[in-house]
Amino acid sequence: MDKSAAILEANGLSKTAVRKKVLDLFLESNNALSLSAIEASFGKLNRITLYRTLKTFQSKGIIHKAIDGTNHPKFAMCKAQCEEGDHQDNHAHFHCTTCEKTICLDDLPTPSIPNLSEGYVIQEANLILSGICPECR
Ligand SMILES: [Zn+2]
Ligand SMILES: [Zn+2]
Ligand SMILES: [Zn+2]
Repeated sequence: MDKSAAILEANGLSKTAVRKKVLDLFLESNNALSLSAIEASFGKLNRITLYRTLKTFQSKGIIHKAIDGTNHPKFAMCKAQCEEGDHQDNHAHFHCTTCEKTICLDDLPTPSIPNLSEGYVIQEANLILSGICPECR
């Protein structure tokens, strides 16, 4: 069984052609993928199907949203420690202003967030670094 099929099976998802192809795109890519890039590699595809696939992958802990400060939603592959309903992707994301790539900096230690005054509940924290990636320097 190939990797994408194995991931789908491990998450109890049926192996539809769209799911496999989307997953293959993520497995082949070292950076986050934008919605438009995924769409482009499909040619003709029902958008709703694609959105639903991405949503399913997100809720299963397979991919996460890579917030990079641009208005383009991007997604990246999760590490093994992510599980259904429990993402561990509190790493920084690097956005290259030259090639527009967004990269997960998951090797960096997770920055700590200072305690907020009482009454605040943090639901999400995003660290975005932007600049020039090694390939563009
Ligand atoms: Zn995750
Ligand atoms: Zn770059
Ligand atoms: Zn990431």
